[in-house]
Amino acid sequence: MEKRELLYEGKAKKLWLTDDENILIAEFKDDLTAFNAEKKGSEQGKGALNCKISTELFALLEKNGVKTHLIETLDDNNQLVKKVDIIAIEVVVRNTATGSLSKRLGVEDGKVLPFTLVEFYLKDDDLNDPIICENHCMLLELVDDRDKLDILKQKGLQINRLLKEFFEERRLNLVDFKVEFGIDSEGEIILSDEISPDSCRFWDMDSGEKLDKDRFRQNLGNVKVAYEEVLKRILGDKS
Ligand code: UDP
Repeated sequence: MEKRELLYEGKAKKLWLTDDENILIAEFKDDLTAFNAEKKGSEQGKGALNCKISTELFALLEKNGVKTHLIETLDDNNQLVKKVDIIAIEVVVRNTATGSLSKRLGVEDGKVLPFTLVEFYLKDDDLNDPIICENHCMLLELVDDRDKLDILKQKGLQINRLLKEFFEERRLNLVDFKVEFGIDSEGEIILSDEISPDSCRFWDMDSGEKLDKDRFRQNLGNVKVAYEEVLKRILGDKS
């Protein structure tokens, strides 16, 4: 399937229309942004790494009963995906405190949380993606029915259970991650966007080393090396 007009360009991906109105092509870019695009950069090959990592993780989730928008990965940077209506809620799932949770609430950085925390953030760059509660979601009509919020939470937890165990076997601590969902043409809520070191935090379980976008956010260097290491761990014997 070929790319037609550009539908949307985001910070890390471009979405292209295709001949089929229900199918898009997602192109992973090398651009890196942080702090709501105040910090910008680019790392050659980052897009391809995220495309591969997200392909592997979505396949793993599909295999375990989580429906996703991914149809097929076309080449290094491009995926064929189902067109969905994106729900403007970023679902963040946390196992260990760090980042905005530590900054905002003073929870000690690195503290293992007593339970898995699921948070909702409004997907709105102009407002700086603020944290929101369920009533805000209803007030802003981000979903048409409160039950959908429960589905988002349950799906976030299910994805976390599957990925946490998968990464533990590969000596990576899945600290936290962000996922996005969309509604497909059949009205079903399915996992969309991507799951990659841009949207997750991975800490090496032995060295404690950060192997994710925090290397870019915190100027730690070796961004690409870290993403390559995550891919290598995912592929294991397959690599
Ligand atoms: N995250 C993301 N996109 C965002 C905000 C957060 O992918 O716009 C991810 C981030 O990589 C981390 C998790 O969500 O894995 C929690 O991020 P946090 O709220 O701690 O935000 P930050 O510290 O990056 O501001």
